[in-house]
Order: sequence, then structure tokens, then C-alpha cells
Amino acid sequence: MKRRNFLLGSMSGLAAASFAPTTLLASCAPKKEKKNETPLNICFQEGIPIGESLNEKLDYMESLGVTGLEVGGRGLAGRVDEIKNALQGRNIKLGAICAGFDGFILAEDGQKDAFDKSMREILEAAGKLGSCGVIMVPAFNGQNPCKPHTMDTRNYLCEQLHELGEFAVQCGTTVILEPLNRNECFYMRLVADAAAICRDSDSAGVKCMGDFWHMQEETSDYAAFMAAGTKYLQHVHIASRGRRKTPIEDGEKDDYRDGMRALKEMGYPGFISYECGCDGDKATILPQSVELLRKQWEEA
Ligand code: MG
Repeated sequence: MKRRNFLLGSMSGLAAASFAPTTLLASCAPKKEKKNETPLNICFQEGIPIGESLNEKLDYMESLGVTGLEVGGRGLAGRVDEIKNALQGRNIKLGAICAGFDGFILAEDGQKDAFDKSMREILEAAGKLGSCGVIMVPAFNGQNPCKPHTMDTRNYLCEQLHELGEFAVQCGTTVILEPLNRNECFYMRLVADAAAICRDSDSAGVKCMGDFWHMQEETSDYAAFMAAGTKYLQHVHIASRGRRKTPIEDGEKDDYRDGMRALKEMGYPGFISYECGCDGDKATILPQSVELLRKQWEEA
């Protein structure tokens, strides 16, 4: 009886399927490729654009359609009005703030207090300026005296970052961890490393970034950005991939499409910010470089 009911049930299921031709046909039809709408938001660090004054630099950036400005953190509290005024009425927003603090968070001496004080001052100024966050490295390889690379130190780092992240949230901004490579910072050299520290710090104010230059040790730019996702990925740096010059100056090496594909698929809302030198004439190179990024973004 039970078996008969089961068979009848199966039969009616088949019958239902055979009378649902539109559903079946729809699944066989070629899928329409949905165009990705994620915009490319290009940002320049303050030293990148042509111009003497900040206003001249911003004029130049507007002429290239660059919509983000990244400034250094040193002395930021004294620049809040200057930067606010310069950005007024422009289609340029402040992106991230690049470091600029004293000391470092894993220091075993007075450099830790110097870090705490100066970083909090920068975070307050960053919040007033509407910045997405202040970039930091917990300790470069050469910084001493530094806590040893142990599990206790990682736990300590997460606790300290939790406190700092909560302070950043109160200020309306975030702390952004920048992974480097093993020659510069051996314990945080992959975007996924930084994202895991964000997760374990358990604060909405602790985020991470990827820098196409430092991402030399990643096996996949795509996987690196995907590991962070929009939950943790707050900023991106870019440079040419051979010598850290302007993207385009290292020719075929300057292919960012694998990483860009991830950024597009995840709907990354942040900036890709130029942090690089320039070997050639900026007036020629910068417009070509921005054009290259737009082309690769389209192709990614
Ligand atoms: Mg960088």
C-alpha cells in the first residue's frame, strides 16, 4: 500500500513535470549574460597627480575622472579644514588615509603608547573627513623591539585591534590592515591572512585591503580578494607589477584583470588607489594608465 502510494506520488510528479514545459524549456535556454554594473572607482594618493597646490592636483584628477583622494595620516588633524574646503563642490571623495602614526601596535616598549596616541588622533581626523579608514601594518620585519611571532601575540593583536576598531567605529571610520610580503612583514603577507585577523578581531571597525604590488605571493588575485569579500575588503592599492611604477609602465606584467574580476563579481564599492612611482612623463603616462585600468575593468 505504502509502495503503491509512493509510485502514484512519483507518477504524479512526473506527470506534473511533463505539463510544465515552460519551466523545463527555460532551464535549457541559453542564459542571458547579465552585464556587471560595478563601477571602477579610481583614487590617487596625493603625490600622484600633476599640480603644485592641492586644488591644482584635484583639478587634474577631475580632468581624468579620478574620484578619490588618499592622503597621508601624519599631521592630518591640522589639515581637516584644508582638505574639506578643497573637496567642497567636487566629484572627489576622500578615500583611505595612509598610515602616518608613530610607533607600532606590536612594540614591546614605549613605541606602543606612541602608536596608541597618534593612531587615535588620526582616526578622529579621518572620521571628520568621512574617510573609509586608516591603513596600518601591525609591524614591519625591521621594527624592534617587537613581540615574538607566537599564538599569544596573535591573540594580543586581535584584542588590541578590537579596541582600536571599536574606537574607529565611534569616530565613523575604520582601521585597515595592509598585508605586505614576507620580506616586509612575514606574518601578514596574504589578503586572506589579514581578513582572518579582521574576523578574529571581532569589530566592525577592523577591515583589510589588498595592494596589487604586495600581492606577489598570492597564488590568485581573484581568490585573494574573494577571501576577504565585501565584509572585510575596504581598500585596494595599485602599482605596476614589475617595479612599483605607474600601472602600464611594466608592459604586459601590468595585468590586473584576475583581481578586477573578483572586485566586480563581489560588487566592491571602494576605491582602487594609485600608490606608485612614475618612471616617465606623468602628463603622458597618467592618462594612459587610467585608460588601461578602465579597459581592463571592462574586460575583467
Ligand atoms: Mg600599499
